[in-house]
Amino acid sequence: MKKHKIAIVGSGPAGLAAGIYTSRAEIETKIYAGLEPGGQLTKTTEIENYPGVIGKTGPELMAEMTKQAQKFGAEIIYEEVSDLATLRESYDAVILAMGASPRLLGVGEENYWGKGFSTCAVCDAAFYRGKNVYVVGGGDSAIEDALALTKFASKVTMLVRSDKLRASVAMQRRLEQSEVEVKWNTQVVGVEGERVETLLVTQGDSDLPAQVGTVTRLPAEGLFFAIGHIPATKWLENEGILDENGYVVVNHEGWPTMTRIQGVFAAGDCVDHRYRQAATAVGMGVSAALDIERWMNENTK
Ligand code: NDP
Repeated sequence: MKKHKIAIVGSGPAGLAAGIYTSRAEIETKIYAGLEPGGQLTKTTEIENYPGVIGKTGPELMAEMTKQAQKFGAEIIYEEVSDLATLRESYDAVILAMGASPRLLGVGEENYWGKGFSTCAVCDAAFYRGKNVYVVGGGDSAIEDALALTKFASKVTMLVRSDKLRASVAMQRRLEQSEVEVKWNTQVVGVEGERVETLLVTQGDSDLPAQVGTVTRLPAEGLFFAIGHIPATKWLENEGILDENGYVVVNHEGWPTMTRIQGVFAAGDCVDHRYRQAATAVGMGVSAALDIERWMNENTK
C-alpha cells in the first residue's frame, strides 16, 4: 500500500503533537518549522502549568517534543511555507499550525522577555508574587490577566490607551469589584532597567501620537501586554478559510479540525483565539492528526 504523505506547517505544540501522532501512525510526515521553530513557548522561561512537566523551560519542552516527533520518523524542514496550492499538490493532506504572535508595541519591551515582561499572565502570574505590575490593554484578555495577577501581585494597574474598555460588560463588572487600578488614556512609550524597573508613559487623548504627551515614569516590577494576537495566516488571505480577524475557520462537514478545503486541517493558536495554551494547542494538534488519519482512509487511495 502506498504510504500517505502529510505536511504540517508550524512546529509549536500543535504542529509537533500532530506530527508525533501522524508519524507514529506511519504517515510520512514533514513538519515545516517556519521562522520561529518551537513557537511561542521558546520565549518563555520555566513552565509551571503544562500537566506532567515540572522544572523544565519552554525551549527544553519544545526540544523534547521535536525529538519525540523525529523518533517516529517525522522530518523537520527549516523552511517557511508561502503557498498552499504547492503543498496540496505534493501531499495528501496538510495541517496548518502556524500559531499566533502576541501583538507588541515595539517600545523596547522585546528586550525584557523573561525579565519582567510577558504576554501570558496565565503562564507567568505566579512569578510576580508581591510585585507591582502593569497590564496594557482594555479587552477581555487584559481584564482576565489583571484579575489573574491580583492573586499574586501586591498591586495591579491596567493601562488603557483610551477612556473606554473594549471588554464585555461581565468582565467590566468583575474588574469594578476587584482591587485593580485603571489608568485611562495612558500609553506605554518606553521601558527602562536591567529587568523591567521603570515604564515611560504618556497620558492624554489617544488620537494624538503617543510620543506627543509629556512622559511620566512609573516604577514597575512587571509588565504584561494583552493588546491582541496576530495569527500567522497572512499567506492564506486569498484561500477563503480565514475569519475577519485572520483566524483559520474549521469544523467543516463534521470534521472538527478541517477547513472548508478538503484535506486541509488546522490546529492550535492560528485557530483558537480563546484559550491559547500549550496544552490546548497540543490537544487540537492530536485531534487534527486523528481526523486526518480517518479522513485519509476515507478519501485517498
Ligand atoms: P481585543 O482585540 O478584544 O482587545 C485588545 C485591547 O488592546 C483593546 O482594549 C485595544 O484598545 C488594546 N490595544 C490594541 N492595540 C493597542 C496598542 N497599540 N496600544 C494600547 N492598547 C492597544 O483582544 P483580546 O485579546 O482582549 O480578546 C480577543 C478575543 O478573545 C475577544 O473576542 C475576546 O472577547 C475573547 N476573550 C474572551 C475572554 C473571556 O470571555 N473570558 C477572555 C479573553 C479573550 P482599543 O479598544 O482602544 O482598540
